[in-house]
Parts: sequence; C-alpha cells; structure tokens
Amino acid sequence: MVAEEIIKLREEIPEGISLVAVSKFHPASMIREAYDVGQRLFGESRVQELLEKIPLLPEDIEWHFIGHLQTNKVRQLIGKVALIESVDSEKLLALIDSESRKAGVVTNVLMQVHVAAEETKFGFLPEELMSYFKDKRFENLTNTHICGVMGMASNTSDMSRVRADFAEIRRIFREISEDNSLGLRGFDRVSMGMSHDWRIAVEEGSTSVRIGSLIFGEREY
Ligand SMILES: *Cc1c(COP(=O)(O)O)cnc(C)c1O
Repeated sequence: MVAEEIIKLREEIPEGISLVAVSKFHPASMIREAYDVGQRLFGESRVQELLEKIPLLPEDIEWHFIGHLQTNKVRQLIGKVALIESVDSEKLLALIDSESRKAGVVTNVLMQVHVAAEETKFGFLPEELMSYFKDKRFENLTNTHICGVMGMASNTSDMSRVRADFAEIRRIFREISEDNSLGLRGFDRVSMGMSHDWRIAVEEGSTSVRIGSLIFGEREY
C-alpha cells in the first residue's frame, strides 16, 4: 500500500517538486516501506517521536521537522534534521541560531507564514514576515540559513479559498525573493500542499509538498 502510493505520487507530482512523506504517528516499519521504493524525505511534527525513529532507520533519510517547535525542545533537534520547516517566531529563530552556533552546525529553516482563516495555525502574519526581511533582521543570524517559506491553506472545502491562500503564500515568497536589495542567497523554497490540496498548491507554485494520510493512511491520535 505505502509503496504503491509513493510510486503513484512520484508519477503525478511534476518533476522538480519535492515530496516530503509525512510519517508522524506511523511506525518506522511503514517509513521503511517508503524508503525501499526510493523515498528519502520524511516529515515529522513531534521532537520525541522523531528522535525515537531516527536510530531505527537508514542514515541517508533527510528529516524535515514540520510541527510547532517548542523552545525547550530546540537543543535536542539541532543537528538531527535537514530542514526545520516551521519557524513561527523570531524568538524561536534566535534560539535555533544560538543552539546551532553552540553545536557548530548550520541549520536550514523555512519561515512559516500564516494566511489561513483559523486562528489556531501558527506562523508569521504576512506583514510581520515582510518587515522581518525589509528590516534585514536576518542579518543577525550566523548559523541559520533561511531557505524559503512554508504555509498551510485554510481548512475548508471551499477550494477557491484554498487556492487564494496558496497564491498569497507564493506572493509573499516572491516579494521577498525578488527583492535584490536584501542580498538573500538560496532563498528558493515554497513548501505548501498536503494530501487533500497538493494539486492546487502545485498549480500555485509550490516547490515541495508534504503528504501524509494519502501515503500512510489515516492517523490515530
Ligand atoms: C500532518 C501535516 C501534514 C500532512 O497532512 P496530510 O493531510 O496527512 O497529508 C502536512 N503539513 C503539516 C505541517 C502537518 O502537520
């Protein structure tokens, strides 16, 4: 099942767009099934769960952290993941940077932008994110590389709203990435799209989709 879904998705997702298989709440054995058909990118949303899975699985897996990251868990995560996709505050970013410096590593991150209707979703408001970049506050970072943005659409069956949310995330990304005065390098990733809306996200310019239930089945929380 898992293998078939991965193969099917790889055929459907346009070339050049990354597939992050979101394996949260699913056992290492299912991750292994995906690995065995060539999947190398996996997404997890809880630090403890991720740290338990890492030693059970091959070393060439690239782990993406995609959940809300509590400041008291940052130290445990540094050096373990290829990308933290869910940086949702400057405080968290500063902590990732200082812990990375202490550990002697550079951590790749995405800035999470909040455009969805729900108040419960985390992330920078578009105007907050714009001023963060326009004021060049990223210049304080020594051991963190901001690679782009991540976002989620509203949780609604109104697909025109979903499309508008993705278009807004993409617009914010472009406004930042096309501003040459910022001198950003390697700011080229737009992570958006999940199981039910990834096709729309791709149409609106996603470079990386995060797909869980479509591959692994429903999660039991
Ligand atoms: C769980 C999760 C996903 C995957 O959701 P599915 O609907 O199962 O594809 C993607 N992104 C984030 C941030 C998540 O927390």
